[in-house]
Amino acid sequence: MKSKSLVNLTNKGLYCEQGDFYIDPWQPVKKAILTHAHADHTYRGNQDYLVPREGERLSRIRLGDEAKISSMSYGERLDINGVKISFHPAGHVLGSAQIRVEYKGEIWVASGDYKLTPDATCAAFEHIRCHNFITEATFALPIYRWTPTEIVFEEINDWWRRNQEREKVSVIFAYSLGKAQRVMNGIDSSIGKIFTHGAVERLTQAYRESGVDLPETKYVGAVENKKDFIGSLIVAPPSAAGSIWLRRFGAHSTGFASGWMIVRGARRQKAVDRGFVLSDHADWTELQTAIKETHAEMIYVTHGFIPELVRWINENGMNAKPLKSQFGEEADELDDVLSTEFVDKIIE
Ligand SMILES: [Zn+2]
Ligand SMILES: [Zn+2]
Repeated sequence: MKSKSLVNLTNKGLYCEQGDFYIDPWQPVKKAILTHAHADHTYRGNQDYLVPREGERLSRIRLGDEAKISSMSYGERLDINGVKISFHPAGHVLGSAQIRVEYKGEIWVASGDYKLTPDATCAAFEHIRCHNFITEATFALPIYRWTPTEIVFEEINDWWRRNQEREKVSVIFAYSLGKAQRVMNGIDSSIGKIFTHGAVERLTQAYRESGVDLPETKYVGAVENKKDFIGSLIVAPPSAAGSIWLRRFGAHSTGFASGWMIVRGARRQKAVDRGFVLSDHADWTELQTAIKETHAEMIYVTHGFIPELVRWINENGMNAKPLKSQFGEEADELDDVLSTEFVDKIIE
C-alpha cells in the first residue's frame, strides 16, 4: 500500500490519516474504530472507541467499564473531516461489522472477519461495492469448504443423544464469543439441559440482552448436585480442553466446533473425541464470492493464507496485494496477535 492511500497499514493498525482514526488498532491510539469484539480486534488502552451498536454490549465486556465507547448502528453515517464512515454487517458474530470509509468518492471497505453462511445469531453479511477491499484469508485454501450448517447440527444433536443414552455428559468446546451462542441457537435444546462455563455464560447473557434468541442455560458453578450434569450439554471455551475443570462432570465425551476440524488430524491434535466443522469465517468459496461482489480495483489480503488468496485473485482477472509484505517483520507479530482468536485464552 502506498503511503498516499486513504487507508494504510501502520505499526499500530490500519490508519486513515484524513480522518485520523485507526481500525482495530493493537497499539494505543486516540481514536479506534472496531470491527468486532473478538480479542484480536478489540484491544484495551485506546482513548476513544467507536463500535457497531449491535455489538456494543460485547465490546463493553471486553473493554471494561472505564473505556470511552460510542456506537453507531449498521448503515448510519459519521463524517470526520470529510471522511464518511459507516458500519455494515459482516456476518461473523453478533455486532460484527465491515467498515466502509469514503473520501472524495473513493471507497474503502475493511471487512474484518466475515462469513456468508447464514447465522441466526447475527445480521447477514452485506455485499458492498468499493474501490479497495481489505479481506481476511483465514481459510483461503480449496480444502476449506464448509459442511451445510443443518448437517453439522444434526451431527451435534446425534452425538449429544448418544452420550445421553450412555449417561454421559457432552462437553462441546466453542469460542466463547460467537461460536458458543451459535451452537446453543442451532442445537435441539429439547434433548436436555445446557450448562455453560463462566467465560461463555457472561457473553451469552450479553447476547440475550442484545435480543438474540437462545435456549435456557445454567452456569456450571451454580450447580449443587453433580447428578444434574448427567445427559446434559456443557458449552465451554477451547481453553478448558484437557483441564481439571472437566473432572467435575464425571463420564463425558468431548467435541470441538471449529472450521479447523475439517483437517484430518486436527481433532487428535486437540485431544477431543469429536470434531464438528462449524466456522464463523468464510470458506474458500465464500471468500471468492465476497471478493467478486465488491467489484474492487484492488483487494488487500491479510490474516491467514495470504499468498494463496492473492494468487487466486490475480489469476482470476482481479488485482490483489498482500497487506503483509510492506509491513516487514512486524507482520509476524501481527499474525501472532491475530491467531489468539483461535486459542481463546479466557479461563473461568
Ligand atoms: Zn473474529
Ligand atoms: Zn480475527
